[in-house]
Amino acid sequence: MTASDCACEWVADSQARKDISDRMFRRSEKVLDIVEVGDPVLRKVARRLSPEEITAEATASLVRAMRTTMRRAPGVGLAAPQVGRGIALAVVEDTEELVSRTDSALVRLQERRVVPFQVLINPELEVDDEEEVEFYEGCLSLGNFRMLVRRHRSVWVRAADENGEVREIHATGWHARILQHEIDHLNGVLCIDRMTGRSLTTLANYTKHWSHLTSEEVRQALRAR
Ligand code: ZN
Repeated sequence: MTASDCACEWVADSQARKDISDRMFRRSEKVLDIVEVGDPVLRKVARRLSPEEITAEATASLVRAMRTTMRRAPGVGLAAPQVGRGIALAVVEDTEELVSRTDSALVRLQERRVVPFQVLINPELEVDDEEEVEFYEGCLSLGNFRMLVRRHRSVWVRAADENGEVREIHATGWHARILQHEIDHLNGVLCIDRMTGRSLTTLANYTKHWSHLTSEEVRQALRAR
């Protein structure tokens, strides 16, 4: 066997190596059950974590399991109440693979970009500007439904990461939407509470009837206010 036959050699790229190790890691990693709408935990205000809890092994273990659960779903965000834990913790990630599955014209409209894995503990959200944008979104706790939701286009989030470091995140476009959606979860708020009336649709009907229209065209067709 020459050096070039060695199984580890052909994965020269560090990101590819990391992806493979992540996949191997996931095989042994716990996948959590995602709780669905109607579970009271989704309606409670999540408890903030103490500095000791933030850096505890139990929190690190929960973060790993939530990351695996989010990736398996797959989703771009997951809040602790969605796995039955009433604590102020959420994870977020938008990958190249997920972005590439979405129509490129919509990706541009949504200002959607790859977001590296982020852990948000005790997050606080501040609106950056008052401009709002309206797009269809869904939730892992709401089955295969989609609905129009107006959200701020640009926000600031201040949150601790898994090491207890407090970070300020400035987000626009789809990243800002994900953060608002996940932080809503920590306040017991679901996207159905904010949806444009009459816009609820199954994913299949969204694809069939609504995905090619702008939100304004959808509003007119639905006679939504
Ligand atoms: Zn959700």
